[in-house]
Amino acid sequence: MSRILHRQIRTTLPVAVGGKGVELFDSEGRSYIDASGGAAVSCLGHGHPDIVAALHAQADKLAYAHTSFFTTEPAEALADRLIEDAPEGMSHVYFVSGGSEAVEAALKMARQYFVEIGQPERRNIIARRQSYHGNTLGALATGGNEWRRTQFRPLLVETHHIDPCFAYRFQQKGESDADYAARAAQALEDKILELGPDSVMAFVAETVVGATAGAVPPVADYLKRVRAICDRYGILLILDEVMCGMGRTGTLHACEQDGVAPDLMTIAKGLGGGYQPIGAVLLGRRIFDAFANGSGFFQHGHTYLGHPMACAAGLAVQEVIRRDDLLANVRRMGAHLTRRLGERFGNHPHVGDIRGRGLFMAVELVEDRSTKATFDPKQKLHARIKREAMARGLMVYPMGGTIDGARGDHVLLAPPFIVDEPIVDAIVERLGDAVDAALAGIE
Ligand code: PLP
Repeated sequence: MSRILHRQIRTTLPVAVGGKGVELFDSEGRSYIDASGGAAVSCLGHGHPDIVAALHAQADKLAYAHTSFFTTEPAEALADRLIEDAPEGMSHVYFVSGGSEAVEAALKMARQYFVEIGQPERRNIIARRQSYHGNTLGALATGGNEWRRTQFRPLLVETHHIDPCFAYRFQQKGESDADYAARAAQALEDKILELGPDSVMAFVAETVVGATAGAVPPVADYLKRVRAICDRYGILLILDEVMCGMGRTGTLHACEQDGVAPDLMTIAKGLGGGYQPIGAVLLGRRIFDAFANGSGFFQHGHTYLGHPMACAAGLAVQEVIRRDDLLANVRRMGAHLTRRLGERFGNHPHVGDIRGRGLFMAVELVEDRSTKATFDPKQKLHARIKREAMARGLMVYPMGGTIDGARGDHVLLAPPFIVDEPIVDAIVERLGDAVDAALAGIE
């Protein structure tokens, strides 16, 4: 019997004992194609020799040094690399150990920024429904995933939520993308005016919504409009690219494709590719300057900030992505995956939408394509698909059940950047069989 408090207490999990390339192996000798990178983490797949070598080398030199005493070579080198490739205006990096920590740090930076510049009345955070920003209390309060939040109400941080930009669910019949982008962004301005512009400190959004809604990119111009609204009222734009960032959508940062640069950006998962736990906040020059010219201190910190092993892994992962031109492969294989998903599911009676960017794709399941009605959450279709996929040697990341009227079951795909066409074909074939078997179980 396991002594670990697993999330699913009544489920016995297979024991993962090895991984090579796009495959994971369990203790019973079964192998699984990792078509979700775990939860969009393993961007280089498993057992990459260059990352393993970098970790060995760093462990031989220095495994740990506390950041109140020292900086380290791998942390400085990774920060240089990240700023070199960062969206316009970003000047510094704050390292943490994962996505939730990155979001917490970004929220505290936003708050301290306004205290430093003499606007302490700015405390309100606006975020979006159907979003996820992490499970620690500040990040949980910011996210708009009611399933994760409900048990913990009242949450410690007061946040305000607007609808996301989610074309399949909220764009009206006959409404152009431009009109929908304007309407979705107007919801932000309306909320700012309702709260009082001088009380709002930040708008937080995933550039491409990940786990909660399933690879939902914004329509063209939405984020540009959001950026303009934030600027109009002096509000910071925090883009959470923990899941969709670091190459997953075919550009290093997803927001590059929207022509927008945030004031603060959170990254994690693909940053270390799962070889070490690492996340970061990229911050803009004006935030750094406010701290540097003000208190000279960021009032925050954790024991494992800028961990040398984590930074060495992150640096090695980013170097391999650049050296092997893997973002080009993400774009190529993303196009192939989109094509194959369209062939397999385009006319499927229970697939309502196929969407995403690069190697960050989702298939949304509906009971009725014409009404977009979701399946009864009690059927737990997403859990059935996961079981059927695992039985076929495929790891995908299904989520779902209608929580707040706008979300059905979906399957998220986020395979490693190293996939080739035969692997993509195998993923789609196994997924098709798993979805049909899961649906057969409830019909
Ligand atoms: N933000 C986003 C967009 C995420 O998808 C996640 C995790 O899935 C988080 C934050 C939290 O990251 P972590 O699980 O590393 O704390």
